[in-house]
Amino acid sequence: MTDRYVVIGNPVGHSKSPWIHAEFARATGQDIDYGRLEPPPDGFNAAVDAFRAAGGRGANVTLPFKEAAFRYCAELSARARAAGAVNTLVLDRAKVFGDNTDGVGLVRDLQVNLGCTLEGRRVLLLGAGGAAQGVVQPLLEARVARLVVVNRTAARAQALASRFSGVQGGGYELLVEGVYDLIVNATAAGLAGARPPVPARVFAAGALAYDMVYGRETPFLEFARAQHARVSDGTGMLVEQAAESFLIWRGVRPPTEAVLRALRHG
Ligand code: NAP
Repeated sequence: MTDRYVVIGNPVGHSKSPWIHAEFARATGQDIDYGRLEPPPDGFNAAVDAFRAAGGRGANVTLPFKEAAFRYCAELSARARAAGAVNTLVLDRAKVFGDNTDGVGLVRDLQVNLGCTLEGRRVLLLGAGGAAQGVVQPLLEARVARLVVVNRTAARAQALASRFSGVQGGGYELLVEGVYDLIVNATAAGLAGARPPVPARVFAAGALAYDMVYGRETPFLEFARAQHARVSDGTGMLVEQAAESFLIWRGVRPPTEAVLRALRHG
């Protein structure tokens, strides 16, 4: 019987995950069916219970359910625990297992696809929501020299930074000093056509500016380009976090290059 997987979110109609996983399955010869589930905001547990009871093997979780998924799991990976959020559910074990592949997806896109060295680099992370929470530990594991988290609501950045040793967190006023080799925009500002208030002075010579929002030129990337930074949107992170989920479920790492190229160039 074909193994069933879903992406769970609300809204989820726009999600590219079903297409990405179908491509991974085709490339690796795996027999899977990957669909979408859109429970109401208070309906996450019931929707997963029903999917699991019907034989569902695993799920990806997106906004606004990553914290609900974290609470749902009986067992968690170390990186899910560090993130406080789950984007990958393994449902075909005695106990539901949760993982978080967002951070490793970002790091893999940076290091493998974009050829960016992280070790020894000064990194600025914008935002303190679910996406930012998922990437702090993997960036530290990549041995960055400095990691500063700033957020519109300064207290959220301070709380996030305080969970890790050597990470500084606060509001955008922290950016009156310091320059950065890598600036990762993990805010949702680009979705609303807005730009986080980053001053031009923070871009080091040869900096890379990365916006997790994908499939569009955000005001942040436009601004970064004007500062002569290299830029990337979040398409590679999307594909690499999906590949990591696929590996967890199927035990085989799918090739990502063709999928990434197709998403970038249509
Ligand atoms: P979230 O939990 O809702 O957090 C949103 C963050 O954006 C918060 O830090 C919020 O600040 C900040 N923000 C929103 N509007 C802003 C503005 N106009 N100016 C400055 N800051 C603003 O969302 P999330 O899950 O972290 O996701 C963030 C973004 O990452 C989304 O656009 C999502 O699509 C993207 N993402 C991409 C991938 C990928 O694979 N490429 C994976 C995960 C997420 P406050 O705390 O002050 O509200």
